[in-house]
Amino acid sequence: MSLYGVVETGGTKMVCAIVAGPDDVRHEVRFPTTTPAENIPQIIAFLQQHHAQTPLTAIGIGSFGPIVLDKSSPNYGCVAPTTKPYWSNAPVVAPIQAALGIPVGFDLDVTTAALGELQWGAGVGLQHLVYYTIGTGIGAGIIVNGAPLPCMMHPEAGHQRLSRIDSDAFAGNCSFHVDCLEGLAAGPAIEKRWGVKADQLPPDHIAWEYEADYIAQAVMNTILMVSPQRIVLGGGVMDQSHLFPMIRTKVLARLNGYINVDAITAHIDDYIVPPALGNRAGMLGALVLAMRAAQV
Ligand code: ADP
Ligand code: ZN
Repeated sequence: MSLYGVVETGGTKMVCAIVAGPDDVRHEVRFPTTTPAENIPQIIAFLQQHHAQTPLTAIGIGSFGPIVLDKSSPNYGCVAPTTKPYWSNAPVVAPIQAALGIPVGFDLDVTTAALGELQWGAGVGLQHLVYYTIGTGIGAGIIVNGAPLPCMMHPEAGHQRLSRIDSDAFAGNCSFHVDCLEGLAAGPAIEKRWGVKADQLPPDHIAWEYEADYIAQAVMNTILMVSPQRIVLGGGVMDQSHLFPMIRTKVLARLNGYINVDAITAHIDDYIVPPALGNRAGMLGALVLAMRAAQV
């Protein structure tokens, strides 16, 4: 039986674990995200300690973005230039690989969660899946033929442009694009628009009409651009489960009959779905990355 090291680097915390399978987590630690100078050695120390006891087969890392995924780049495995203090150009894969000497799989956090859902969650049996997280920010993991969409960098679907709702007086709060999807529909945008935390708004508040419409536009764009077999909507904001039927209705209305496949026209309830793995998607996706890295 193989053991794998899995790592989730997040905006607020780092999670590291030693895992034998999706239901077999042997050891887990968490520490606050601070600087690469502090966090990378913490990750290495945890992995090395367990690797010395029972050798690990491979490591999988799901990272906050932006990250460099171009394997021909000298910066492969680094955080890309970012407004996040301390982390611009920080190497993540190289120091961990050098310290452990075993294969390391690496991808964006939301792509990693998408892989977890595909393998053991809401996408079991499918080949093409898109996973949106709608939380503090918005991102999408795009899986095609069972693997992350190969591309230049990684998709940044959270910053796609939408049509504004005429009556929406909120300007938007993306520091790059003002009223992109994230600027209009992430948790902080909801809070700024209405002056209360998103989880305090009652289910019949107009806020959710706006939210469902913006998310439905993003889902429609995704259907038109990528044509996945299913779209998973996760993240803290989607804990408002009444959004799902609203989004499904708005997607069908906006598509206006243009896409004629049963999966959408007859089975929209199975097409736009919540995650099945909850907050385990990232760790399980990192396990998929580790297992695949071991096979290369
Ligand atoms: P993160 O994106 O930081 O990883 P989350 O996915 O939990 O974490 O997203 C946090 C955001 O989601 C916050 O802006 C918060 O207001 C919003 N949020 C969390 N829980 C709920 C909820 N039950 N209803 C609506 N919004 C929520
Ligand atoms: Zn933006």
